[in-house]
Amino acid sequence: MENKKELRGWLDDFNLDHPLVIAGPCSAETEAQVLHIAHQLKDSDVSVLRAGIWKPRTRPGNFEGVGALGLKWLQKAKQETGLKTTTEVASAIHVDLALKHDVDILWIGARTTVSPFIVQEIADALKGTDKTVLIKNPVNPDLSLWLGAVERFYTADVANLGVIHRGFSTYEKTRYRNNPEWQIAIDLQQRFPDLPLILDPSHIAGRRDIIFDLCQTALDLNYDGLMVETHHAPDDAWSDAAQQITPERLKEIMIELTIRKEEGSEIEFKNKLNTLRTQIDVIDHQLIETLGKRMKVADDIGTLKKEKNVAILQTKRWNEILGKMILEGEQHQLSEEFILRVFKAVHQESINHQERIFRK
Ligand code: PEP
Ligand code: MN
Repeated sequence: MENKKELRGWLDDFNLDHPLVIAGPCSAETEAQVLHIAHQLKDSDVSVLRAGIWKPRTRPGNFEGVGALGLKWLQKAKQETGLKTTTEVASAIHVDLALKHDVDILWIGARTTVSPFIVQEIADALKGTDKTVLIKNPVNPDLSLWLGAVERFYTADVANLGVIHRGFSTYEKTRYRNNPEWQIAIDLQQRFPDLPLILDPSHIAGRRDIIFDLCQTALDLNYDGLMVETHHAPDDAWSDAAQQITPERLKEIMIELTIRKEEGSEIEFKNKLNTLRTQIDVIDHQLIETLGKRMKVADDIGTLKKEKNVAILQTKRWNEILGKMILEGEQHQLSEEFILRVFKAVHQESINHQERIFRK
């Protein structure tokens, strides 16, 4: 897939002086709920109303959506408020029904993007459409799989495309419901700068209190838009209650966010600097996490050595590690002096950890 300008034509048609905002409930629950939320979002920075009609749930027994009936509510919300509409489609049948109800933007869910068969079925059903299709990242951190889905639509002559970054599943529980792995989205952005990139902070966070920070990071990384789950009574939502925010809160967030407009060379320079600095912050955060993980392994080794009554310092092993790291460092343009300094510091910290274990 080459970089084609027209990929973002649909986005330019909104003619906004701020990133695109898509908002609305995780799920359409009742007609009154959809209309109520749509009216609350009208006359704000929000341009598109979202609502899940068919809900893919990880475990059965959770609310699986109202089905095609909800499409009529979206249609009515559009007529009453002028907002464009979007919903998730996960099969050719969904596509047919959504098109019949004049849905403007179709999104592909994270559990669908993982399946090339289903993605192809949906792409075939949408062949040549002028509707916009937004493709969520797959649940697993795999950039090729994500790009592969984009390519299937592109090859089916769907020209209005974009991607939604909603984070990646991990077995380990972290502060996020889905780990952002910003680096994957940054890589994608660098390879396809014209492909609109939208953040879904709600499914990354899984909770309300970090939605703002996630949105700000996305703006600092020059994302093109945000899709935020919004509900008039979040605690009573039939799905994803913990992560939804009220339309009022969303409006506050929109005011508090710093939007960096690209205008004039000075601002452009600052934007670029800011984007690069945010990339550095993301990588530094990963470095600390990796160092923390390394120390945990060093602790386990310390416990083993203590049990077997083996000395902490194993000079031969340490020299082997250093030699390997110097060679690897060279391949990444890292000087021998730097590698020696960093690894000596890391090694010293491991020894301190292990000494603490021995003294216990
Ligand atoms: C959603 O947007 O409500 C949804 C189900 O998202 P995802 O596919 O990212 O889990
Ligand atoms: Mn949801």
